[in-house]
Amino acid sequence: MNCQKTFVRVAVPVPLYRLFDYAIDHIPAIGSRVQVPFGKRNLVGIVIASIDKEDLAVDPSKLKRVINILDDPCLSKELNDLAKWIASYYLVPIGMVYELILPVRLRKAEVLEPSGEKFWQLNDSAQAVSADDFGRAHAQKALFTYLQNHSMANVEQLNRDFKQWRPAMKALIEKNYVESIEKINLTEYAPQFSEDRLTLNEDQQKIVGSIKEKQFSTHLVHGVTGSGKTEVYLSIVEKLLIEPGQQALLLVPEISLTPQLVERVRQRLNKSVAVIHSAVSDAERHKAWWSALTGKVDIILGTRAAVFTAFKNLQIIIVDEEHDASFKQQDGVRYHARDVAIMRAKQHKIPIVMGSATPSFEALHNAAQNKFQLTTMRDRATGSNLPDMHLVDTSDPTERCVDGLSPSLIRQIKLRLSKQQQSILFINRRGYSPTLYCTECAWIASCPRCDARVTAHINSASGSIQSVRCHHCGYQSGGQRNNSHQNANFHVCGDCQQPAVMPLGVGTQRSEEALKRIFPNAIVTRLDRDVITTKKALENELHRIRNNEVDIILGTQMLAKGHDFPNVTLVGVLDADQGLFAVDFRGPEKLYQQLLQIGGRAGRHQRGEVYIQTQFPEHPFFEQLLAQDYAAFAEKEIQNRRILNYPPIGYMSLLRAESTFAQQGLDFLRWCRQQIVLPAGVFVSEAVPAPMEKRAGRYRAQLLMQSASRQSLHQYQHQLISCIANSKQQNNVRWSLDVDPIDLY
Ligand code: ADP
Ligand code: ZN
Ligand code: ZN
Repeated sequence: MNCQKTFVRVAVPVPLYRLFDYAIDHIPAIGSRVQVPFGKRNLVGIVIASIDKEDLAVDPSKLKRVINILDDPCLSKELNDLAKWIASYYLVPIGMVYELILPVRLRKAEVLEPSGEKFWQLNDSAQAVSADDFGRAHAQKALFTYLQNHSMANVEQLNRDFKQWRPAMKALIEKNYVESIEKINLTEYAPQFSEDRLTLNEDQQKIVGSIKEKQFSTHLVHGVTGSGKTEVYLSIVEKLLIEPGQQALLLVPEISLTPQLVERVRQRLNKSVAVIHSAVSDAERHKAWWSALTGKVDIILGTRAAVFTAFKNLQIIIVDEEHDASFKQQDGVRYHARDVAIMRAKQHKIPIVMGSATPSFEALHNAAQNKFQLTTMRDRATGSNLPDMHLVDTSDPTERCVDGLSPSLIRQIKLRLSKQQQSILFINRRGYSPTLYCTECAWIASCPRCDARVTAHINSASGSIQSVRCHHCGYQSGGQRNNSHQNANFHVCGDCQQPAVMPLGVGTQRSEEALKRIFPNAIVTRLDRDVITTKKALENELHRIRNNEVDIILGTQMLAKGHDFPNVTLVGVLDADQGLFAVDFRGPEKLYQQLLQIGGRAGRHQRGEVYIQTQFPEHPFFEQLLAQDYAAFAEKEIQNRRILNYPPIGYMSLLRAESTFAQQGLDFLRWCRQQIVLPAGVFVSEAVPAPMEKRAGRYRAQLLMQSASRQSLHQYQHQLISCIANSKQQNNVRWSLDVDPIDLY
């Protein structure tokens, strides 16, 4: 018997740093999915290579056989190369990378082609029939005529056009005039092209002109909010998708994936568009992925994970809001979609265009080193000016805030109300108040599971505190979630038992209450994760705002990005100081980005103003902010980081450990630190507790690794990971490596 002559090496979706060999009857293409036995389970893996008998590590007769070859192949050479690069760069098992790349449906042993939708159509024998033949069978006659006019129809169409069609359909099928077929429905991707277009200004033309097809090049567009970056992206896509079948990938942060943008892409380009984001179902994602793979859709517009879409003929990648933190995955395989996109462009030999009003320092640094081609757009495309920025000194007694609002800000809001213009107020805290404080003994209510304070939430009807919640782990006491505490009295101190607990500080709920009190005739809307829980709800609110149905818009982060509200002329930032003294070295960068982005919502079409409340108006940060010269600010900050070799000058990784007892994680990291002799130029910190050590009941510790040389740091980590993978030290801890971390906790 010689049926075990051929062997394949397979990447299996398990967190192990190795591949597995199987016997197989015939070798499928590299990148094919195969179903293989693994322990007691059957898993879907990817064929990485074919193996000669001599190269097998074990006796061939001991090898298990591949159960089933699912496709041949599923992943292109480019995607296989990309998977290898991710596994190597982020030091993760390749099986986990493939799991990340494949849509959920294809991680299972399902066929590559998505299942179709049912359509009904007239068959050949219906040719000989006419509508008149149905006599008094009116329903059948109507349906028959309908199918003559529409070559086929699905449930959705039939439900729309008929009250009741199923009995008539059944009769037509029994008479053998109608048949049903399965067809993949791609109509939702169809373009909604309108000829309307803008004439590009000089800056825009220059960028579009600089993009050359079919060669790898990296471009950074640094354009102020409203400078016409989106218009540039669309013109580039239009320029590069000439021949039928050519494709584009457009990546955006989750939050800016508004229906407004999707509509704009559909109308501007005469191309089919599929959308991929977190709210898209597994079936829809599978369909979009397959459509791109087979060339049935021209453009994929999506968030982070869309960077893994398989394409038949990709020509251009665009990354909008390149600086946005949502491009970085914060668990599992901690990749950065922008960096993966650059690698993809390189493999496909195509251009990539990244844009932002506030580029990441990494991108600016690359531009300074001529790795990215930089274009700057300093003016708004509509001709309106950037908003004026003002500080309100809340340490000044005349500017004393009540419920987070200073007299100056209140005056400004009043002014906008009198002119029927809208105001946005930005506050980065949900709930009523971020601190519950005992005036007798200085006790502060904290989360039992985290090193963090709990936030008070009130019942808006009664105005009293209804629950306290931890925004880090989801812990909640009181409210609906925990009935036993329904009547908990949050005014009683947890320490001295005095009824002296006061809410301190301001969250969105408290400001909303205050605004409604101060401006009883104004319509106030609040946008935060407590009120806006679905994509639909967000869409509705955004629609109401654009439709001028609200006067004052109060919100968190959710409001900051991408949105275009024509009638907003005032942006108020209630508390900028939170970010001013952040422990993270990226604190100032993030704060500047946030304030410029939120400020950018003001006066996109008419003159706008931004008012920022702070207790520290003398802080040098604000001088730089008011200058609204992001590039100059970045240059200065990057100089500061040079001294410490922080990114983007040097490279950084974080080894994290999580455990039930504080000591376990620290011990594990100390052990890690001792395993490898430090190569020259690599610096590794002591094992230390994370800034928030306890979170959701688990203790977190970390080890910071740095080097001026990416290569040296990578080699060191590679050794370290092999060492950990081959030892039993990690028994009590959950560890993870974060290459190029963007958050240091
Ligand atoms: P960004 O993406 O940089 O914020 P957009 O592309 O959304 O900017 O453009 C901002 C506004 O300017 C939009 O209302 C857009 O229609 C308008 N706009 C863009 N380019 C032009 C142009 N060349 N001429 C006139 N208006 C433009
Ligand atoms: Zn907590
Ligand atoms: Zn007390």
